[in-house]
Amino acid sequence: MTEANKKIVIIGGGITGLSAAYYLQKVIKEKGLPYEFQLIEATHRLGGKIQTVTRDGFTIERGPDSFLARKLPGSKLVKEVGLGDDLVHNSTGQSYVLVKENLHPMPEGAVMGVPTKISPFVTTGLFSPIGKLRAAADFVIPKTKQEGDQSLGMFFRRRLGDEVVENLIEPLLSGIYAGDIDRLSLKSTFPQFLHAEQRHRSLIVGMKKFKELQPKQAEDANAKKQGAFLTLKKGLQSLVDAIEEQLNPLAVVKGVKVEKVNRMGERYDLTLSNGKEITADAVIITSPHFAAQSMLSHYPIFEPLREMPSTSVATVAMAFPKEAVKEDINGTGFVVSRNSDYTITACTWTHKKWPHSTPDGKVLLRCYVGRAGDEAIVDQSDEEIVQVVLEDLNRIMQITEKPEFYVVTRWKKAMPQYTVGHQERLEEINQAIEEQLKGLYLAGSSYEGLGLPDCIEQGENAAKQVLKYFQAEKAEQK
Ligand SMILES: Cc1cc2nc3c(=O)[nH]c(=O)nc-3n(C[C@H](O)[C@H](O)[C@H](O)COP(=O)(O)OP(=O)(O)OC[C@H]3O[C@@H](n4cnc5c(N)ncnc54)[C@H](O)[C@@H]3O)c2cc1C
Repeated sequence: MTEANKKIVIIGGGITGLSAAYYLQKVIKEKGLPYEFQLIEATHRLGGKIQTVTRDGFTIERGPDSFLARKLPGSKLVKEVGLGDDLVHNSTGQSYVLVKENLHPMPEGAVMGVPTKISPFVTTGLFSPIGKLRAAADFVIPKTKQEGDQSLGMFFRRRLGDEVVENLIEPLLSGIYAGDIDRLSLKSTFPQFLHAEQRHRSLIVGMKKFKELQPKQAEDANAKKQGAFLTLKKGLQSLVDAIEEQLNPLAVVKGVKVEKVNRMGERYDLTLSNGKEITADAVIITSPHFAAQSMLSHYPIFEPLREMPSTSVATVAMAFPKEAVKEDINGTGFVVSRNSDYTITACTWTHKKWPHSTPDGKVLLRCYVGRAGDEAIVDQSDEEIVQVVLEDLNRIMQITEKPEFYVVTRWKKAMPQYTVGHQERLEEINQAIEEQLKGLYLAGSSYEGLGLPDCIEQGENAAKQVLKYFQAEKAEQK
C-alpha cells in the first residue's frame, strides 16, 4: 500500500463527523498529504441533531440551542469557518425550579445545584429546614472512600441529602442528560464534583473555591456580565452550512447508510445501503453507539454498546403574541422537579434568553418533554404533546391562547446515558480496538461528552489520531 492510496471514511455527518472532516481536510491541504477522505451520512442533510427552523422572523432550534462558552473547541471551530462575528452570548437572568406548584428562583451561587453561598440557601423556599440542615452536614461528612465509579445520585444524596437532590440537583442535571441521576456515572459526567470533594472534603467548600477561581480566568471586564452560553445569530444550522460549504463536495455523500464495517487484511470493507462496497484505510465512526454496534455486530468487543441506554425526548417550540402570556415572569426559564405533577421537564423563555431569536412583540417558549423512565409522551401525536404542554404552561404562566404556530421535534434514543462504569467500558473497547482493529475510531456524543464542544473536540481528535496512525505505519515501513 503506498501512502498515496490512503483513504479515510467518516461515518455520520453530525457535528462530530463534520468536525473530523473539517480538520482532516485542513491538515491534508496544509501539509499537502496524499490522503483522501469521504464523509457518509445516512440522511439527506448534514448536522445530525443540529437543526434550525426559521419562520416568520423567529429562529427556532429543534435540537441544541447553544454551547458552553468556556469549552473552547466550540467557538474555535465557529471562528475558523468565518462565523466569529455571528457569535452571541445568552442574556443572563433569573432561572427557576418548579417544585410542586411553585416556581422557586435558583439560589444565587449554586453551581449545578451545589451551594457556594450560604445565605441564599438559608432563605430559599426550595427546601424544608430539615432539608437545609441535612445539606449543611456536608461540612462534616468525610470524603467518600469508594473506589471506582458511583452514581451521581449516590454521591449527591450522601453529601447533601435527598431533598436538595430531588428539588434542585436532579432537575438541573437531568435537564442536560435527560437521565436517571441514580444510574448516571459521576466519573463520566461531572468528575469535578468528586475532585472538589476529594480535595476539600466538603463539596460546598470545594465548589466555592472552584467558583472563586473563575473570575480570574475572565480577561475582559465585561466577561462577568456575559452569559455562559454561546449561539449563532442565524442559528446553529449556520455552522453546519458553513462547514459543508468548505468541504470538498465530492467527499460528502448523503442519503447513504453504512451497514457493515469489516476488517479485511490491513484495510476496511464498508457495505453501504445503496448496495455498493467501498474500502478504506481508516474509519471514523461518529454515528450513535447503537448504530456503530450494529455495523460492527460481528465483533463481540462492541457488545457493551448494545447495552448502553439512550433516552428519547421531544422539544416543543411555541410562538405567541406578547399579550397571550398573562403572567410575565422575570427570567429565562425553569426546570421541573420530578416531585411535581407536570409532563414538561424544562421550559426556556427563548425570547428572553436569546432576544435575537424572536421578533418584537412576540414570545417564544421552548419546552422539553421526556426523560429516563418517562418517555411515553414522546410517542404521542404533535397535537397531543402540544395540548399537554399548554395545560402545564397555563398552570404556571397563565397562557390561555393557542400558539400562533408550534414546532414539535421528537428525538428518539437521542440522549446517550453514561451509566456507572461508562469510562471503564469505553477504555476496554478502545483497548480492544487498538489490538484488533487498528485505524478504526469511535467519536461523538455516545462516548466522551455530549455537549457540542465535546463532540467537536472528539471529531478533531479522531482526525489527529488517524494522521498519527498513518505516520506510525509509514515509519514502520521504512
Ligand atoms: C434535544 C436536544 C437538545 C440538546 N441541547 C444541547 C445544547 O443546548 N447544547 C449542547 O452542547 N448540546 C446539546 N445537545 C447534545 C448535542 O446536540 C449532541 O450531543 C450532538 O449534536 C451530537 O452530535 P454527533 O455528531 O455526535 O451525533 P449526531 O448529531 O447524532 O450525528 C450522527 C449522524 O450519524 C448519522 N448516522 C447514523 N447512522 C448512520 C449510518 N449507519 N451510516 C451513516 N450515517 C449514520 C445520523 O444520521 C446523524 O446525522 C442536545 C441534544 C438534543 C437531542
